[in-house]
Amino acid sequence: MFKAFLIKYAEIGIKGKNRYLFEEALVDQIRFALKKVEGEFKVHRTQGRIYVDALSEFDFDETVQGLQKVFGISGICPVVYAEDEGFEKLGKDVVEFIDRVYPEKNQTFKVHARRARKNYPMDSMEINCELGGVILDAYPEMKVDVHHPEIELNVEIREKIYIYSQIIPGPGGMPVGTNGKAMLLLSGGIDSPVAGYMISKRGVKIDAVYFHAPPYTSERAKEKVVDLAKYVAAYSGPMKLHIVNFTDIQLYIYEKCPHDELTIIMRRFMMKIAERIALESGCLGLITGESIGQVASQTMQSLAATNEVCTLPVYRPLIGFDKQEIVEISEKIDTYETSVLPYEDCCTIFVAKHPVTKPNVKVIKGHEKNLAEKIDEMVETALSSREILDIE
Ligand code: ATP
Ligand code: MG
Repeated sequence: MFKAFLIKYAEIGIKGKNRYLFEEALVDQIRFALKKVEGEFKVHRTQGRIYVDALSEFDFDETVQGLQKVFGISGICPVVYAEDEGFEKLGKDVVEFIDRVYPEKNQTFKVHARRARKNYPMDSMEINCELGGVILDAYPEMKVDVHHPEIELNVEIREKIYIYSQIIPGPGGMPVGTNGKAMLLLSGGIDSPVAGYMISKRGVKIDAVYFHAPPYTSERAKEKVVDLAKYVAAYSGPMKLHIVNFTDIQLYIYEKCPHDELTIIMRRFMMKIAERIALESGCLGLITGESIGQVASQTMQSLAATNEVCTLPVYRPLIGFDKQEIVEISEKIDTYETSVLPYEDCCTIFVAKHPVTKPNVKVIKGHEKNLAEKIDEMVETALSSREILDIE
């Protein structure tokens, strides 16, 4: 019965002069999301509202699920529209709408009319009262409640007449593409896909980098990261995934540096390499899934040591989250089941029994001098030999 959707957006409504840029980005993202959905749609803006009109038969659930992945949407209202054929016909349409959407008819309601077309012969108040009367005549068991109605029946008078009452929640946030681009350090764990999702939710486009260490990490571990990137891309849009071979660097650090500092030194090189790729790709920051105190490499001291090599801002959206809170988001965005598949990631192989938890940057830098002979060349090789995948 529904032939269109009214798209509600919250934050982007308050952007003053830039508002139209945000609306255009949102329209683009909606079009992109609907490409994957069966059916033909027209997405258009009229008088500060965005509508998705279905031009053909379409799958309702699939369409709603597609729209629920578009950042910037706060609510999705399924709409019935009808030609304006006079008030009597409108009354009939509204009565039929209630019959189909609320078969129990024991709820309280109010009518909320809006006249976008001012030549309609009744004003909004009159429409509210008259339609309320028509509904009560048809369904005497229903009651009007203007303050806390269970059903708010919206009637918008435009070229056509739009009728809707439900608001299906959207993902919120801002449309991707309105806030620059950042490079996500994506591992096979639970945290980093969630971190990417959260930054993307603020309108940031994302590319990702994964460090693997074959043969210490398997092809399946890499496939898992590719799958995780696809889940994130379902929200963030297409991304490039850079896959960097980290084996030689890792072995070299293992050979030359104290083992309890291995993880920190490795993390510093990951950040350095990620930053190089980020700068080449026009990114304005790095994103990691770190959270204070989660593991030895995420104490305040360790984070300071890792951060020290970066010149770009490092966004750590999970910094104050408990694991359980992160798990809940990963379940919501469907990454959890993939993240917990038991394929080793490159940190676990070389992990020391007792890694430092309070690294000292000066000491670490001293030990990194042991790498002077070959490390720069190794970093260049890692960069130039990287594989770049297009993730849809
Ligand atoms: P995650 O669940 O995201 O793997 P984690 O709790 O396992 O996180 P660490 O392994 O210490 O934590 O990694 C911290 C962050 O560093 C990750 O969230 C991710 O952003 C980045 N990272 C770690 N390993 C890799 C890797 N192999 N490739 C790319 N990024 C990585
Ligand atoms: Mg990890």
